[in-house]
Amino acid sequence: MDLRTSYDVVIVGAGHAGAALAIALRQKGFSGSILLIGDEPALPYERPPLSKDYLLGKIGAEHLLIRPAEFWPENKVDLAVRCAVQELDPDRRRVTLSDGRHFSFGWCVLAAGGKVRRLACDGAELGGVHTLRNVSDVEHIRDELDATSQVAVVGAGYIGLEFAAAACELGKRVTVIETQQRVLSRVTSPVISRFVEEEHIRRGVSFHFGQGVRAFRGEGALQEAILDDGTAIPAQMAICGIGIDAETRLAEQAGLACDQGVLVDSCFRTSAPDILAIGDCSRHPNPFADGLWRLESVQHAQDSAATAADAIIGNALPYAQVPTFWSQQYDMRLQSAGLSMAADEIIVRGETGSTPFSAIYTREGKVIGIDAINAPRDFMAARKLIKQGASPDRDSLRDPGIPLRSLT
Ligand SMILES: Cc1cc2nc3c(=O)[nH]c(=O)nc-3n(C[C@H](O)[C@H](O)[C@H](O)COP(=O)(O)OP(=O)(O)OC[C@H]3O[C@@H](n4cnc5c(N)ncnc54)[C@H](O)[C@@H]3O)c2cc1C
Repeated sequence: MDLRTSYDVVIVGAGHAGAALAIALRQKGFSGSILLIGDEPALPYERPPLSKDYLLGKIGAEHLLIRPAEFWPENKVDLAVRCAVQELDPDRRRVTLSDGRHFSFGWCVLAAGGKVRRLACDGAELGGVHTLRNVSDVEHIRDELDATSQVAVVGAGYIGLEFAAAACELGKRVTVIETQQRVLSRVTSPVISRFVEEEHIRRGVSFHFGQGVRAFRGEGALQEAILDDGTAIPAQMAICGIGIDAETRLAEQAGLACDQGVLVDSCFRTSAPDILAIGDCSRHPNPFADGLWRLESVQHAQDSAATAADAIIGNALPYAQVPTFWSQQYDMRLQSAGLSMAADEIIVRGETGSTPFSAIYTREGKVIGIDAINAPRDFMAARKLIKQGASPDRDSLRDPGIPLRSLT
């Protein structure tokens, strides 16, 4: 494709947020020129199925695409894949690719996502040791799965647990290693952690809590993971799901304010004029909790993109969406809304031993979050309660016989 040398909007990163921004701009009637630049070989695709149905082979790569290939030219979005932006120059208002090409911009939007964290222990470079972020990671993992009977999963966060569930479904023997004392400790309450852990144990997954991996060992390829206490876990494959760091390299080099993410205001504007940052790489003030937040979710990628699109078309409105997230493990669908870390009370709705049930988080009586397991109606209604800042009485919240929506 012939690219221009100057664009009204240049988007760096053709992942979920970058693609959503181009789509939102066109949906909102923006008629200027748009260049979407991504360093991966694939057209913009969704990551959630990578640790779920795509990993299990239930869907093909074409089902990952955010939009079919023809959407981009039809909507006059120039798409440059396999192109890494090497430099952002806010003063000259231009980006430079690693192949030396320059593009000047009216607006630049950073949508560069995150860099996956890797273990730095001995043996981390052995064949069979993987991270899971991109479609190419999953292709390598799938190629090796047939010859794998034992898997070590490092990190009991969403991605580690989703991988554990998928591997278990494929008949692998799965061991999860976690430095904290419970699963999902960073994102949920003990009551939800306990239920999720038991569901995994019921299907044969083993856990080692309070342990890290000291080394991976093997002749050429992985044979075992050695834990801090010396325990050897036999495994032909290890998946390291220990999180991501925001991709801030370009922003830092350009002198933009960064602190564990590119710092933005409530309209996703960075410290430099006409440069915005959205999705996983940005850290923003959220109306539903104090402080600054870097959120990793599809909802946030889409809604931050919509807010940035409004700013670009001259209709800047502060971000006001309730954060949401979902995870699928076995037949468990976990849906979360709100930012519940500051809760002073957890109200359990339903029986904790079986689904559906939910944990509702309140602060001074006000609903600030929910984790709902196989309870989509509770999730939807709680999202409204959070948005409204509602303070229903705790007996009604606790009683599954009273629909939450009747409290909105
Ligand atoms: C396996 C997996 C499962 C997930 N499951 C869920 C789920 O169930 N629910 C949910 O809500 N969220 C889920 N997420 C999170 C969700 O996918 C992310 O929050 C979302 O993709 C963030 O979008 P983004 O555009 O900010 O970042 P990304 O999707 O990471 O896109 C950023 C893109 O920018 C590219 N890039 C970076 N630097 C440059 C550069 N200099 N030049 C050019 N390109 C560059 C990157 O290579 C990447 O392609 C999951 C994520 C993963 C990895």
